[in-house]
This record gives sequence, structure tokens and C-alpha cells, in this order.
Amino acid sequence: MPAIVNVKTNARTEMVDITSMVQIEVAKSGVTGGICVVFVPHTTAAVTINEGADPDVCRDIIAKLNQMVPPHEGYRHSEGNSDSHIKASLVGSSVSVLVEGGRLVLGTWQKIFFCEFDGPRSRKVYVKA
Ligand code: ZN
Repeated sequence: MPAIVNVKTNARTEMVDITSMVQIEVAKSGVTGGICVVFVPHTTAAVTINEGADPDVCRDIIAKLNQMVPPHEGYRHSEGNSDSHIKASLVGSSVSVLVEGGRLVLGTWQKIFFCEFDGPRSRKVYVKA
């Protein structure tokens, strides 16, 4: 079974830095080298890697996604959250990160972000190194 990282989101659309939580699961796995897969088992949430230094980067990503995929566009899906499903597919449900010496190998400015598109909710992320 993969490790599970629990994420509590606080807004309908939000990016949450989960890098340290993923790193903890890699350390607990005892894996020192290979690949860590981070997978989101939800249809209205996603995961991506991007800049974590300037929070305006995430704000800009969210603003552009909301502009590109408005909440009400005559969608057919009766649940009323088609924009959330579309954003989840655009961003994607998994990322892979190399592991060396028990550490995630990320670029200087890179962080792993859980992307909430239909929150607030209690979510989970699968991590397997
Ligand atoms: Zn739906």
C-alpha cells in the first residue's frame, strides 16, 4: 500500500505545499534511491510542481485557471462542478520525483503542490517511493 498524506483544504481553489509531508513519507519508507510517485486519488483535485518561493506564482496560476475555466459555462455535469473536473485534468493527477540519498531531488525553487479545485475538503495523497 502507498503511504497516505492527509490534506485539509480551506478554499474552493487552493494550492497547498506538501513537499515536507512527501519527504517525511520517503524517509519513513527507507528508500534511498529511485522514484517517488505522488498520486491524487480524486477527480476534482490535482498535483503539480512549481515555484514555492514567491506565493504570487500560485496566486497567478489559480487566477489564470479560474479565468480559463469559469465555474458556469453551460456545462452538462449535473453535480455543478465541471470546472473543478476540467482543472484537475489540465493539471494532472500525479508527479514523479527522483530520490537520491533518501531525499527528493527537486530544483532550488521547486515545491510539490496539492491543487484543490472543489474545496474546502479533507483530501488524501498517495505517496510511493
Ligand atoms: Zn462532479
